[in-house]
Amino acid sequence: MAPIISREIRLKRRPAGMVSRDDFEFGEAEIPEPDAGEVLVRNIYISVDPYMRGRMDARKSYAPPFELHKPLEGGCVGQVATSRNDMFQQGDYVLGMKGWREYYISDGSELTKIDPSFAPVQSYLGPLGMTGLTAYVGLLDIGKPRQGDTVFVSAASGAVGSIVSQIAKIKGCRVVGSAGSDEKASWLLETAGIDAAINYKRAGDLTGALGRICPEGIDIYFENVGGKHLEAALENMKQFGRIVLCGMISIYNSRQSEPGPANLSLAISKSLTLRGFIVRDHADRLEQFRADMGLWIRECRIKWKETVMEGIENAPEALIGLFGGENLGKMLVRVGPDPAV
Ligand code: NDP
Repeated sequence: MAPIISREIRLKRRPAGMVSRDDFEFGEAEIPEPDAGEVLVRNIYISVDPYMRGRMDARKSYAPPFELHKPLEGGCVGQVATSRNDMFQQGDYVLGMKGWREYYISDGSELTKIDPSFAPVQSYLGPLGMTGLTAYVGLLDIGKPRQGDTVFVSAASGAVGSIVSQIAKIKGCRVVGSAGSDEKASWLLETAGIDAAINYKRAGDLTGALGRICPEGIDIYFENVGGKHLEAALENMKQFGRIVLCGMISIYNSRQSEPGPANLSLAISKSLTLRGFIVRDHADRLEQFRADMGLWIRECRIKWKETVMEGIENAPEALIGLFGGENLGKMLVRVGPDPAV
């Protein structure tokens, strides 16, 4: 049999500031036959996530830096092409962490079987996967919403934000979202069913706009963006409000440390709680998350969008696109044949 050649995207150099196409290189790797106990997986969809930008730097963080001239890694959904592992059969769909390549060999220890009859395979990277769990633990465990709370979500039409917004609605909250275009704001109002949406690129004074929409103040701010969004939220938080620090995408490409919000002292006078979290510390919530999210999806109470780029060669553009707001919902790259197509 002819050897399998897997096309892959490698890290060519560490970005200086804004990530660019020149920071990546294209490569091909010959994939061996799986040994006893191993499986060969053909990827179908790879997940493209803002945290990957941090792993392109040499800096130590909660996840190790990507290695130069090696393929990037990340969430992926694929199909078992050959199995020499009793736990998997040829044709099984699996969730793994060896994205940014077309094929890989695994001993199965990092793979999770997924059910393609419940939802499209790629949704296990979105609402049914790490993205959904982030929204679930961030809002419910860190934000602790109560019926009637006003919840403000930034990057609200993105992968995490769109799920946060809808879980908050399920919990009886009033939800205000910000997003970077009128199209995104319309999707939030008409499909996700939130109460008010701000196109922050056209709002001008975000603090004032938020104040007009939330005259009584904000109980929970779900932070995905940082910078001016955090300042505007701080200004409008209610006494004893909670700020869930999930991400700060506006500073991921900064060349130097950004100054903190000028009005952070409001956290003292308003007795606010600001708490960060990393989703991987909340694996104990997976079972309950899957049960709740599965139910909400069956009841059509959670809607989601995907922005799909085609072909492994376009993975760098997909990552760069996150920072330009090119995605509505989850950013994915399709690298293999989708069972639903
Ligand atoms: P998204 O799908 O939300 O994509 C990113 C979006 O951010 C873009 O579409 C864009 O939307 C917005 N954005 C980009 N740059 C800026 C900017 N300078 N100012 C304002 N908005 C900007 O990504 P995810 O849902 O995957 O991630 C959302 C956040 O959650 C990120 O900060 C990420 O790092 C974080 N995260 C944290 C996790 C954790 O464990 N703590 C786990 C997973 C994600 P727009 O058009 O609205 O500007």
